[in-house]
Amino acid sequence: MKPNSIAYAEHLDQQDPFHSYKEEFYLPKNSLYLDGNSLGLMSKRAETTLTVLANSWKELGIDGWMDGQYSWFTLSEKLGEMCAPLVGAKANEVMITASTTTNLHQLVATFYKPEGKRTKILADELNFPSDIYALQSQLKLKGLDPKDHLIQVKSRDGRMIEEQDIIDAMTDEVALVILPTVLYRSGQLLDIEKLTSEAHKRGILIGFDGCHSVGAIPHHFHQWDVDFAYWCTYKYLNSGPGGVGAMYVNEKHFGKIPGLAGWFGSNKEKQFDMEHTFVPADNAGAYQIGTPHVLSTAPLIGSLEMFADASIQAIREKSLKITHYLMELIELELSEYGFQIGNPTDDNRRGGHVALEHPEAARICKSLKENGVIPDYRNPNIIRLAPVAFYTTYVDVWMAVQILKKIMQEKLYEKFENKREVIA
Ligand SMILES: *Cc1c(COP(=O)(O)O)cnc(C)c1O
Repeated sequence: MKPNSIAYAEHLDQQDPFHSYKEEFYLPKNSLYLDGNSLGLMSKRAETTLTVLANSWKELGIDGWMDGQYSWFTLSEKLGEMCAPLVGAKANEVMITASTTTNLHQLVATFYKPEGKRTKILADELNFPSDIYALQSQLKLKGLDPKDHLIQVKSRDGRMIEEQDIIDAMTDEVALVILPTVLYRSGQLLDIEKLTSEAHKRGILIGFDGCHSVGAIPHHFHQWDVDFAYWCTYKYLNSGPGGVGAMYVNEKHFGKIPGLAGWFGSNKEKQFDMEHTFVPADNAGAYQIGTPHVLSTAPLIGSLEMFADASIQAIREKSLKITHYLMELIELELSEYGFQIGNPTDDNRRGGHVALEHPEAARICKSLKENGVIPDYRNPNIIRLAPVAFYTTYVDVWMAVQILKKIMQEKLYEKFENKREVIA
């Protein structure tokens, strides 16, 4: 069988242990969805737990805080426990709360303590803008100028950040390092274990943004001794638009007073004493702030049950195989159209999506959408394609590449402007 034949794609699907999961998802009609790294699709299990929680409000009123199938009062803790195996953490080191950006604010407010010569935060120049805005504002809150105190490691090629360049920037002026696990554009996976150990050798704390890896790649945060991490649940974890964020705090830091305190960070036995002296929880729960977003958390219960069934190791295996297949088809079918693969190709260095670069990327994306393929576009020239283990088949990938080939052959993209929309 030729690797670019549909028969070969069908053969791969027959062997795929994830084949039956596809039926558990609602797939947009008449389209091939390759954007699960921006917003995961709704599963039937997520819909069910959303309904269960909505009904608990309907039927129980205030008593839903303690009663019902899922008590709202301990939902963040319960979900943290369910999410912990995905990142290699202990059950009480993970909390589902707030949003990615808010959690970063909380963690920096808690762990960033400029002292003496050690006053700088080290980040990279390719991270997601929200992370950088948060770091800049945290520095300003301490009366420090981000121009001097935020160091952003440069990329040599505009795509990747070399680990050695990060390590070289870990000077004795650095108090805290914040890095992505996987870079959102190029999909580069950083060596988390090595960076953590190098930071610690120099007496520096280190935290990771796991938005583009959690749910696609297994991590071992506790074993690697990562100080803290935060991520969203609406990308690979399929918790729905505005789904609640997540944070991990290494148990060695339990007891550190939260930078941003609020009553839901209380020791749960004490919370309703309503005293004005804050008694924080003795686990990652201490870093929650206010009342949990119960309905926005609800779909995650059903979704995490699926992850437990499937296992994150098997998810990574399929993800590597199907992204490899996609890259192979791109080489075989699209070589004459000026595309370049912008993600690392080594399995140990790549995340869950393929970053296809092209000068006409913006309008090629528009044409893909018109022709039933949903990618996403990232400035200035990247078409991100994410075949997701749970709901993308090898035949889907094969068809998507055929559609892209037709768009290029017939120059169908020329009817669009090469400019992004408001949301890309
Ligand atoms: C998606 C994403 C965010 C989004 O943050 P929110 O607070 O959930 O809006 C932040 N950082 C990275 C790296 C992301 O990929």
